[in-house]
Order: sequence, then structure tokens, then C-alpha cells
Amino acid sequence: MFYNSTQDKTKAVLSAQAIAQGISQDGGLFVPESFPQITEEELKAMLSMSYQDRAKCIIAKYLTDFTEEEIADCVDSAYTVEKFGSENPAPLATVDFNGAELNLLELWHGPTCAFKDMALQILPHFLTKSLQKAGGGKDAVILVATSGDTGKAALEGFKDVDHTKIIVFYPVNGVSAMQKHQMNTQEGDNVYVCAIRGNFDDAQTAVKKIFTDTDTQAVLKEHNMMFSSANSINWGRLLPQIVYYVSAYCDMVNKGKVAFGDKINITVPTGNFGNILAGYYAYQMGLPVKKFICASNSNNVLTDFIRTGVYNKNRDFYTTVSPSMDILVSSNLERLLYCMSGNNDVETKGYMDLLKSEGMYTVSAPLQDKLQSMFWGGYADENATERTIHDLFLQQHYLCDTHTAVAVSVCDAYIRETGDNTPVVIASTASPYKFSKAVLGALDQGEMPESEFDMVEQLHEITGAEVPAPLASLRGKQTRFSDVTDKEDMQSVVLGALGINTNP
Ligand SMILES: *Cc1c(COP(=O)(O)O)cnc(C)c1O
Repeated sequence: MFYNSTQDKTKAVLSAQAIAQGISQDGGLFVPESFPQITEEELKAMLSMSYQDRAKCIIAKYLTDFTEEEIADCVDSAYTVEKFGSENPAPLATVDFNGAELNLLELWHGPTCAFKDMALQILPHFLTKSLQKAGGGKDAVILVATSGDTGKAALEGFKDVDHTKIIVFYPVNGVSAMQKHQMNTQEGDNVYVCAIRGNFDDAQTAVKKIFTDTDTQAVLKEHNMMFSSANSINWGRLLPQIVYYVSAYCDMVNKGKVAFGDKINITVPTGNFGNILAGYYAYQMGLPVKKFICASNSNNVLTDFIRTGVYNKNRDFYTTVSPSMDILVSSNLERLLYCMSGNNDVETKGYMDLLKSEGMYTVSAPLQDKLQSMFWGGYADENATERTIHDLFLQQHYLCDTHTAVAVSVCDAYIRETGDNTPVVIASTASPYKFSKAVLGALDQGEMPESEFDMVEQLHEITGAEVPAPLASLRGKQTRFSDVTDKEDMQSVVLGALGINTNP
């Protein structure tokens, strides 16, 4: 299986190189040349498999330059009971909300309590093996721009992994108190964390630029290092996410929520478009899906795009209670455009060039038709998000985080507007305790405590929902990182963190 660049189809590399490199040199993203199929027989066989075995089946279809043993080793090291609390790292919880049955796919039982762990616990294993195959013995420098959850999950996945160094940038006012605390107290000898004055898009743009800068690449090469990425532009991030949609379908069948072969709907709270794209890729492999419901917060650029075919990032940026979705440039949309244009690299590059120069583009009519046949877009503002947390708890005694609440709210609107009662899976992406202030505020129960950890405690007292151990243990932990930089200085911060002096 080869991987092509979305902006230059003539590039074709094996998965190890795609993963080691992270992004194609032309600025495009690596995509599989075609989608391997899951036959009906295979899907049936997966019904009785563990999550881990389902993962091995699906991953083997894509990493054809890895041996079966290597893939088994990656999967078995990543999805352990120790790290995810139970045999199935992605369990389904069913609730009734406003009269409809919703199946919440809880993806936040990993070490950092957000769905990013599903990919970032396995990516370091993929990457170290990829470096052996395609990295020429170099050390990998992982550059991360984060809106909160990726940063911590990547730090936790890569800490003290041989031949890797990891540098994380986050917007100084764009993450929750718990997220900041999680990152600033990170342990490990190969980690560095820095805040930037700017928003997530500023961080992501600067990281992409440093990443593809040939001078910086040459300097790294001299020091036997190379850049790689743990953002969802890396193929090694998306691939493990395909698995849980297939696994969720199997669990839905096993629980009697859907008849084998019948379609489901999938709702995803969306930011960078990685999670929902992985679901779409599962559909491309043959998973029976009717509709993808793309849920946004007040940064509703994707809602407008799906409804009108116009992507326009020239708009106000809002800092919301669901910070991991505060994004106006959804990187992985590029992969969807490539797929929906029939693998047309010229057309895709055209849209991306317009996005860079004008901040907007309009897709062709056939592409818009295709988009609307599979996707429905909606958004939840701050009020709707808080009301959903409140009502879901009141109705079902189920506590959800702010991002999941956006998805529940939009899914609820979709069902009411369309009358579509296809069984639905909603990606539940974070533990409510990562966003205690907003969640507690939404429940509207008395005075708000001052400190983050007192909020956690109060939330626990009110709801009885278990506080995840990795969050509870942060209390009183020493801060290791407190640097803040301007976005213009990120490049020198990177070189400094690597111990490279460029002006002798
Ligand atoms: C990252 C994140 C999202 C958005 O996922 P994308 O793959 O960027 O679309 C949603 N919710 C939470 C909690 C996240 O951490």
C-alpha cells in the first residue's frame, strides 16, 4: 500500500515514511492510494473479537510494510487494561435524551482523559518502528501545536521514548486550567512545553511553517535529527481512530442496537476534522454508515461549509468552553476534499492555495453534492452546550464534558429537524473533569469554588461520577514549564529547546 500527497499525487511512499515524515514535502497530507475493504465476512468475524484484535485486523490492511508481529506489538503495548482501565478502551454508554436513544462512544478512558489517547498511545510505537525502517537512524523531533488535549496526550505518549524529543506549543489563553496544569507538570527527560501569545490557528500555522522550512530541516539534519508530527496531519494518528468506529459498530450489533448490515449515523464534535474523517474512512472501507453529523461550537466554519460549500475562515474567533474545537482552519478537511474530488490533487491544491491567499474557497458543485449526501453540519453555542450538560444530567444522571455536549446538542437538533431515527453513535471525547468549571457552572448548583481541584471535588460530590485517577493525582504537582513566547519566536524556541545554537 502506497500513500500519496493530497497536493501531488506523483509522490508515493510506504507507510513507514509517511508516519516518520508526518507531512509531505510539498505541504500536502499523506493519504492511502485506495481504501482496503472490510468484507461482510470479516466484519462478522470481528463481532466476537476483542478491541485489540479488531485493531490488528484493520491496521494490518494499511501498514503493509510492517510485519504482523510488529503490529501486534504496537497494539498490545498501547491498549492495556493498565492504561485504559478495562479490556475495551472504547466502551459504549446508552442514554435517552429528549426522547431519543443515543449511544455515547466513550473515548476518554486513557491516561490523559481525552480521546486523543486512543491515537497517541499507539503513535510512538508506530513512529519508533517507522524511524528504524525509513528514518536513516535519525532522532525524531515531534512538534505539536495544541488546543489543549493533543499536547498532553502526545507528551504522555512520547515521554522518555528513545530517539524522540517532543516540543508542545499551546495558546496561553486558549486552554482550560486543568489542561494547562496537565501540560506544565509533565514529567520526562525529552519533553518541553511553551505557551504562545496567539490562538490555536497561530500555533498550528507556525508549526507547519517551521516543519517545512528547508533551512531548519538542514540544521536538524546536521545534528542527526528530523521533524515529525503528532498532530492529526500524521497518518499514524488517523489510522488508530478508524478502529474505534468499526469496533463501535460491532458493539452496537452485539448489544442489539442495530441489525448486522444495517446503517448507523455517527455524530462527532469536530475541530481539526481528524476524528470525523477517521469515521468517514471507516465508511470508505465498507462500514454501514448513513450520515455523519459534524458538530461545531460557535466557531462554526464547518457548519457553514457543509451547508453552503463555501469555506471562509475570515470571521471572528471565539474562545469557548469547548476549547479543543476552537479552530477555524480544520487541517484534515484537505483529506476529505481530496477523497471527494476523486483523488484530484490539482483541485485540492487549488482550494488550499485559495485558503492561504484569500482565507476562503468554494468547492465545485459535484463536490458539494457529495459532501451534503454524507454530512450534515450543525453547531451549539455556549448556552446550548451548557443546557445540554444540565439536561442530560437531569434526565439520565449522566455527566458529559463540554465537547461531548456540543455533539449531543447538534445530534438532538438533527433528529428533530430531519426525523431520521437511524441508530446513532456519538463520539464522547473527554472526561467532564477536564472542564470542571464549565461543567459545574452548567449544573448550576451553588457557589463556584476558587481552585480547579475544589471544583473537581464539588462536581464529584454533586454527581458521584468517578474522578479519573490521572487528574486527581495532579493536585499539588510541581510546575516544570512556564515559558510564554511570541509566535514569531517559535522557531528559535524550538532550536533552543533542542540545544542547537544557530548564532555562534
Ligand atoms: C481534539 C478534540 C476534539 C476535536 O477533534 P478533531 O479531530 O480535531 O476534530 C473534540 N473534543 C475533544 C475533547 C478534543 O480533545
